[in-house]
Amino acid sequence: MTQYIPVTMCHDCGLLQQISHMPEDGAVQCCRCDATLRKRQRVEPAKSIEHTLALVITALVLLIISNVYPIIQVETEGHEIAATLFGCVKYLLSNEMEFLAGLIFLTTIGAPLIQLTGLLYILLPVNFNRMPPYYAPQIYHLVRIITSWSMLEVLMLGILVSVVKLSAMATVVPSIALWTLALLMIFIAAILSDLDTEMLWEKISPRIRAVELEKLKRGTQLTNCHNCHLLCTISPTHESCCPRCNAAIHFRKPDSLNRCTALVIAASVLYIPANLLPVMVVTSFGKTEGDTIINGVIYLATSGDLPLAIILFIASIFVPTIKLIILSLLLTTVHFKSEWRPRERTYLYRLTEFIGRWSMVDIFVDTLMAALIQIQGLMVIEVGVGAVAFGAVVVLTMLAAMAFDPRLIWDNMEKINE
Ligand SMILES: [Zn+2]
Ligand SMILES: [Zn+2]
Repeated sequence: MTQYIPVTMCHDCGLLQQISHMPEDGAVQCCRCDATLRKRQRVEPAKSIEHTLALVITALVLLIISNVYPIIQVETEGHEIAATLFGCVKYLLSNEMEFLAGLIFLTTIGAPLIQLTGLLYILLPVNFNRMPPYYAPQIYHLVRIITSWSMLEVLMLGILVSVVKLSAMATVVPSIALWTLALLMIFIAAILSDLDTEMLWEKISPRIRAVELEKLKRGTQLTNCHNCHLLCTISPTHESCCPRCNAAIHFRKPDSLNRCTALVIAASVLYIPANLLPVMVVTSFGKTEGDTIINGVIYLATSGDLPLAIILFIASIFVPTIKLIILSLLLTTVHFKSEWRPRERTYLYRLTEFIGRWSMVDIFVDTLMAALIQIQGLMVIEVGVGAVAFGAVVVLTMLAAMAFDPRLIWDNMEKINE
């Protein structure tokens, strides 16, 4: 049975609040910053584990098929080339682009594989009421971290854009892995929304409960564990560990401002070569031409593919730029202890977390096009060095958003109100 936690601390603004009742449908939101505190699961609590386990097993089968078969096949001038996910990674490795190869491997194969096998390892014994397996809290921690790096929905958008772009120069035939990847994307979304994480933590560590407020002395500092969200007491003098998952607990993310500032500066520096250097190099009939991100968007807009141009403009130019601007704004306002619109700034923070991954679309498109158009003497597409810089900008801005602690926005407000 799902246990509702009556008292919880908002993960976005740090306000301690009581949940008096769970609404029949929908979610409980923080009264100060509108963050979702608890959500009613779609699946009955008694069936949640069994239901998620079935989804995980199906998703694993889909993941295997998606990696064995090609995604799309291209036929042109009597040549036939098929692209698999592994094929794209291998192509990048053979072109000495290890960073991009690693990034594509992590976001499309590695992260979903770790996520699904990790969940299978924990859910299988739990479903049959066996003892939770060895290192279950650590493995579940890893599953939760790796989930941010699984980008199948972005890959699907990248494949669709590539299909439209490729169909202008060759016959494109969708292959079996395209359909299994689409299904896999839906199954992973269902697993994330249906798994009752609070109940799973209770099964993994059944004897550990959140601190009881009535028994606390006045002035005791409380915080939620970053990993499992258990409400714990924290010692101001020495390092504390979460009693449930053993993760180190901190009142605020350690060194948040410094880490986030360093990552934003590094991303801003790389943003320049990412936009000036070509992300794709096309050799056609002996003539070599490099395409930067903006060139690619302008070309699509002028050749009549306006919707595609808009998608790529939003994903590759608008999203990284707005993300760097928002993160700089958040860092500056927190540094100067600004009281300006904390709720709206928290919304902006959530926006950066949500949109960051979509910039990967361009990387997926460039890699797929390059892996598929390799017709020696006629047309060869290669991934340009700008794509490496662009990939680094995406990773650094994602890490910067993860390093930023949104509760810092509200800390100044609390000091003012005291
Ligand atoms: Zn809040
Ligand atoms: Zn914990």
